[in-house]
Amino acid sequence: MSIDNNLIVILLLFVICALALIIVILIFFLLKVLSKESPKIDGPPQASESPRPSVNRSFCSFHSEEHAVSTCAICHQSICQSCYRETDGLHFCSEHLRTYTENQWALLSQVRSSVEQPEDGLEVYLFKTQLWDKDLTPSYLVTHYQIDVQGDYVETLTSLYVKESELESLQEQFHAYKKASQ
Ligand SMILES: [Zn+2]
Ligand SMILES: [Zn+2]
Repeated sequence: MSIDNNLIVILLLFVICALALIIVILIFFLLKVLSKESPKIDGPPQASESPRPSVNRSFCSFHSEEHAVSTCAICHQSICQSCYRETDGLHFCSEHLRTYTENQWALLSQVRSSVEQPEDGLEVYLFKTQLWDKDLTPSYLVTHYQIDVQGDYVETLTSLYVKESELESLQEQFHAYKKASQ
């Protein structure tokens, strides 16, 4: 009798294994069919690719794997924690911290702009950007915000600093730039 019992148990196990195998094969085919159909509805994969460019901007310009924590005041490059240098409340990449500390700086222009007229500050900003993009002329902006009781920005004081040795020629350039943009 015990031999028969053992045989039944073995047979049962065999049937259970066979059923399990069939279920696994069925699931496998089901997944295969589903994965064949899904590329036709390829809206979602495209949607997941589109945010990438905006994510890239938040990576360090010198270390593409590292997230950016700030931008350099002189070259505007995105910088990660290990590139980031701060002094006098300004942020620099390691190269331009040296530029900053090894030079004397002079105020080229100071612009007061309000919420109603933000374009006054924009002009200085555009000139500064152009100085770097065209001639790699280092300069930096210092921005002070004046905030009212409600916590709203009322006024922005933007100061553009350039190398003292280049002040005169850049003053002329800025003058010409303002004339041209009017
Ligand atoms: Zn820099
Ligand atoms: Zn970095």
